Amino acid sequence: SKTPVGFIGLGNMGNPMAKNLVKHGYPVIAYDVFPEACKEFQDLGAQVTESPADVAEKADRIITMLPSSPNVIEVYTGANGILKKVKKGSLLIDSSTIDPAVSKELAKAVEKMGAVFMDAPVSGGVGAARAANLTFMVGGVEQEFDAAKELLTCMGSNIVYCGEVGTGQAAKICNNMLLAISMIGTAETMNLGIRLGLDPKVLAKILNISSGRCWSSDTYNPVPGVMEGVPSANNYQGGFGTTLMAKDLGLAQISATNTKTPVPLGSQAHQIYRMMCAKGYALKDFSAVFQFLREEETF
Ligand code: NAD
Repeated sequence: SKTPVGFIGLGNMGNPMAKNLVKHGYPVIAYDVFPEACKEFQDLGAQVTESPADVAEKADRIITMLPSSPNVIEVYTGANGILKKVKKGSLLIDSSTIDPAVSKELAKAVEKMGAVFMDAPVSGGVGAARAANLTFMVGGVEQEFDAAKELLTCMGSNIVYCGEVGTGQAAKICNNMLLAISMIGTAETMNLGIRLGLDPKVLAKILNISSGRCWSSDTYNPVPGVMEGVPSANNYQGGFGTTLMAKDLGLAQISATNTKTPVPLGSQAHQIYRMMCAKGYALKDFSAVFQFLREEETF
């Protein structure tokens, strides 16, 4: 029978991901600061614990899926953190999207304890998490990749080795910076076309067979009424939250500063998503930038 797998952070993404591990027959040892998030897992037969240290005591493979860098640091190095009880030879996989510099620091601390740390952030939203269809971008020691893959294939369909620790995060941050830029570009373009008298469906159709085509125009169009089954068709509910996009763009800015890399459009995108958070769009899907750009002048 399979040995237990710890799972810490059972939110929008962690919940369906951990369920897929249960489905594959792994006994799951669960923890979340928010007790409500664990209840469902108790019913599924998972063991719910009191702290990340408890998880580390009971499982030698642990996946974390937390909001941002400070939460991951707390779960690893806090008073009741994983590092307090981690067993030698344990495999610790962090699938949160965080600062690659933090991943590298944690990898060092984990290595000192005789265990292995890998960063494995994901692409694909809640739907892909449910369908075990995520893409994992994995950074860390290559010899450990197969061991990580054994677990990650239960939750995703594309598991890509990126390089040394932190490079999974690097790939994720780069992807999301481009996604934000293309989403804003699609939204402002669609808005201009509409104000020039074009039917948004006709404009989208033309973009999607022309050189302006991108994922934001053909798979996740931000204009209500152009596509079905996307957040713009449902008042921008669900999907990928504007706060999370703002966080990822902030990470891209930190990385760009650290490497002296000019990212003018990434900076602009970061500011736009920050403004949206401040103006009541925080919990809407990030494609709501279309709505934000449509706000009428009131003075
Ligand atoms: P979420 O906020 O829904 O879930 C995070 C969970 O972590 C919550 O249940 C929260 O209670 C728990 N948590 C926070 N601090 C904790 C702590 N100290 N100890 C234990 N549990 C703690 O977030 P999410 O949407 O599941 O996203 C998780 C990560 O995945 C983020 O880094 C996000 O950027 C990334 N991501 C999200 C999506 C998406 O579409 N939602 C897609 C790709 C990547």
